[in-house]
Amino acid sequence: MRERIAELADWVGAGDVVVLSGAGLSTESGIPDYRGPSGLARKATPMTYQTFTRDAVARRRYWARSHLGWRNIGDARPNDGHRAVARLQELGLVRGIITQNVDGLHQAGGAADVVELHGNLARVTCLDCGAPTGRAELETRLRRANPDFAATAAEINPDGDAEVDDAALDGFAVVDCAGCGGMLKPDVVYFGETVPPERVAASFELVCGARTLLVLGSSLTVMSGRRFVLRAAKEGIRVAIVNQGVTRGEPYASLVVDAPLGRVLPELVRRIEDLYFVET
Ligand SMILES: [Zn+2]
Repeated sequence: MRERIAELADWVGAGDVVVLSGAGLSTESGIPDYRGPSGLARKATPMTYQTFTRDAVARRRYWARSHLGWRNIGDARPNDGHRAVARLQELGLVRGIITQNVDGLHQAGGAADVVELHGNLARVTCLDCGAPTGRAELETRLRRANPDFAATAAEINPDGDAEVDDAALDGFAVVDCAGCGGMLKPDVVYFGETVPPERVAASFELVCGARTLLVLGSSLTVMSGRRFVLRAAKEGIRVAIVNQGVTRGEPYASLVVDAPLGRVLPELVRRIEDLYFVET
């Protein structure tokens, strides 16, 4: 383990790193990873764009669960892993950060210029006029519209969707765009929805200019993240993975560290600071 972290420090210390992060980076902030080692199997099927826009009952239930789930996601704080990534960026070693997470914790931990592949739960968009609504404002409106809504969440999924009995969701009032009355949707990519092409292009451009692709906390189960690893391997860019548990990227990685990110990443930063950034 020590040797692997030492090797990783050599790679990252050489600079031009692109970080690709997944749910495993946020588990230590209390946001569960339903594919990771915490083993929380997801009960509800993920919301699809079609169901959300066409099924009023499903949409009502989604907003009710999301309203409950937001208390968990919205209160989450960045962990040592997020802060370590921000520090590497501050040291000038990181060329870009691409995240599959929708929790905004990279930025909360001090990182900048993050490509949010799957969007961000803190933003809500009107599907008709495109106007954005801040999540805090939306939550205030939802609370006002549902003063007696008292159901409690049994489990929160990483996308902010809570597991609640459907019966408890009946009667939840959905709110619409304050400007045009249109349908509101969290600014996140749903299951079955494609990532906006300009976001994908920006990510490929980052990856192709990298010296090292550093995957943090992703099992690389979904193609939306795995394709960047495949491209890096094809381009001869070295791939390093820090993840707790098995990942599908292992055949393409030259270096794999299977350990908690909150332990590995601060140690990585310490080593790099000692090796390359000694105060004179
Ligand atoms: Zn609108």
